Amino acid sequence: MKILVINCGSSSCKFQLFETSTGDVLAKGNCERIGIDGKLTYKAPGKEDYISTEAMPDHKVAVQLILNALVDKDHGVLSDIGEIKAVGHRVLHGGMYYSKSVIVNDDVKKVIRDCFPLGPLHNPANLTGIEACEAVLPEGTPQIAVFDTAFHMTMPPKAYTYALPYEITEKYSIRRYGFHGTSHRYVSHRVAEFLGKNYEDLKIVTCHLGNGSSFAAVDQGKCVDTTMGLTPLAGICMGTRCGDIDPAIVPFLMKNENLTPDEVDTLMNKKSGVQGLSGVSSDFRDLEKASKEGNERATLALDMFEYQARKIIGSYAAAMQGVDVIVFTAGIGENTDYIRAKACEGLEFMGVKIDPAKNNGNRSESIISSDDSRVTVCIIPTNEELAIAQETEELVK
Ligand code: AMP
Repeated sequence: MKILVINCGSSSCKFQLFETSTGDVLAKGNCERIGIDGKLTYKAPGKEDYISTEAMPDHKVAVQLILNALVDKDHGVLSDIGEIKAVGHRVLHGGMYYSKSVIVNDDVKKVIRDCFPLGPLHNPANLTGIEACEAVLPEGTPQIAVFDTAFHMTMPPKAYTYALPYEITEKYSIRRYGFHGTSHRYVSHRVAEFLGKNYEDLKIVTCHLGNGSSFAAVDQGKCVDTTMGLTPLAGICMGTRCGDIDPAIVPFLMKNENLTPDEVDTLMNKKSGVQGLSGVSSDFRDLEKASKEGNERATLALDMFEYQARKIIGSYAAAMQGVDVIVFTAGIGENTDYIRAKACEGLEFMGVKIDPAKNNGNRSESIISSDDSRVTVCIIPTNEELAIAQETEELVK
């Protein structure tokens, strides 16, 4: 089945067209600078790359240009736009309402809109993308919303509740939601399949380590805890996000640095993390280089990341009263052997033993723990777009 996957930002629209029977990407690309001028970058295997700078005053025009490119006689991959059987949309926030992907209708759109305060940067853009596709694709083409928060909705209240006055948490729906759910769901299912084990029998810690990083404890097929919270700022320190800090630092900084709420939010989301700490970069490749050259702050940033990762893995093993599998995924998790090794260092007491010969330089789907390790540690490359396409297909079927 041919499924189009759309990930809309406020001025961008990324897309991938899948043939789900094979998992093949037929075409992919990105519209950027929507509402400013417009640039479409388009790639299809076996065809010449195509770039268009036709004006994109809004997302509807951008989606129309994507569809035009997909049926173009030179670089297109479809003979008719009706071949697209459904569209899967990445949607950041489904609030407390959705624990699964859903077919979009007016109620779903209302929920996405009601969640604007919880995902102010993403949800409005995600809804715009859905409405643009509805306007431009043949009538009746199903639109599916795949929420980043949905996988974590199985968490128990003790894991998702914040110890604030209960009435305030209820009034504003303040709780831990968690993000990267599509990735955590995909790699936790995939690792069970890869190991030939029953998903419902396993206690899994999934470590999604990228520019944004999060962990999930998946106990017998259900997410029971995750590190991101009301927003993606919580958890381990990230590329530019500070992660968990003493909450009293926020009013302290606002008073002493004379910052507004928006300014302190920007400081914590965009100027902190390993970039803010090191003063070098948010990219772990740059940090590694700087650290090797003797940059102490880059070394500190890497030490902190590894230390926090280890603490989270240990705490999730405690939360689930055991762990069978640890999965590393995303940019850092898939590519950076020393982070994987350091995150597991010293965890031999709970049965975790990395085999350097299997770990070093490895980037592919594989086991990296030693044969005598009680806990199996794996690399599972994530593929959020394919996961969205598969969930979309399941719902349409
Ligand atoms: P993601 O958000 O999953 O795309 O991950 C992005 C991060 O992964 C980058 O900021 C890098 O720190 C890291 N990364 C990506 N590719 C590599 C690589 N080949 N080697 C080391 N780190 C990498």
